[in-house]
Amino acid sequence: MTTSTPSPLSSEVLLLVGPPGAGKGTQAEKLARARRLKKLSTGDMLRDHVAQGTALGQAAKTVMDAGELVSDALIIEMVRGELSRQPTVRVLLDGFPRTVVQAEALDALLSELGAAITAVVLIEVSADELVARIVKRAHEQGRTDDDEETVRTRMQVYSDQTAPLIAYYEGRGKLRRVGGIGKVEEVFARVSEVLL
Ligand code: ADP
Repeated sequence: MTTSTPSPLSSEVLLLVGPPGAGKGTQAEKLARARRLKKLSTGDMLRDHVAQGTALGQAAKTVMDAGELVSDALIIEMVRGELSRQPTVRVLLDGFPRTVVQAEALDALLSELGAAITAVVLIEVSADELVARIVKRAHEQGRTDDDEETVRTRMQVYSDQTAPLIAYYEGRGKLRRVGGIGKVEEVFARVSEVLL
């Protein structure tokens, strides 16, 4: 008699990149479920630390509320802790990396773990649409980093510090561009298609 053992899943690392309000979080949830990946959102991890009042959370809160980035060193250590805990690296990273320094650290960390980036999905949305969405979300969720001034800062931080990742991953043949306007399901269909 034969017993069938499920074949072990191989490692997979997907990244979602896009400006604040592009819908990364929503797509991340769906994509992680569809591909059986663990979703790691640095924004969620940080908000947990803030809610629990840890030392890290206390250090991060002021920076987050101002719409600036938490230090690379702190973020990299937080992600390293999570990734090293995975038996097989099957993750969807949302909101990380956000700087080229973080991207380089991620490459090094993955190679230590015997994994590599599978693909990077860039969700593209126009600036006007983004502002409208974020202001709406501020009212719905009461996030303290969603007031207008802070949103403007976060947009600026994205274009200065995070947008350079587009060239970084394009140069490595990893980038897949997806239009982020439309219904959640429509965008998800596009995301799924570029990952085929
Ligand atoms: P959004 O998805 O709305 O762009 P996130 O929830 O990912 O925002 O992040 C909220 C805040 O947490 C950021 O504005 C920043 O202060 C901090 N943060 C999250 N991820 C990172 C990161 N990788 N590097 C530095 N700061 C981060």
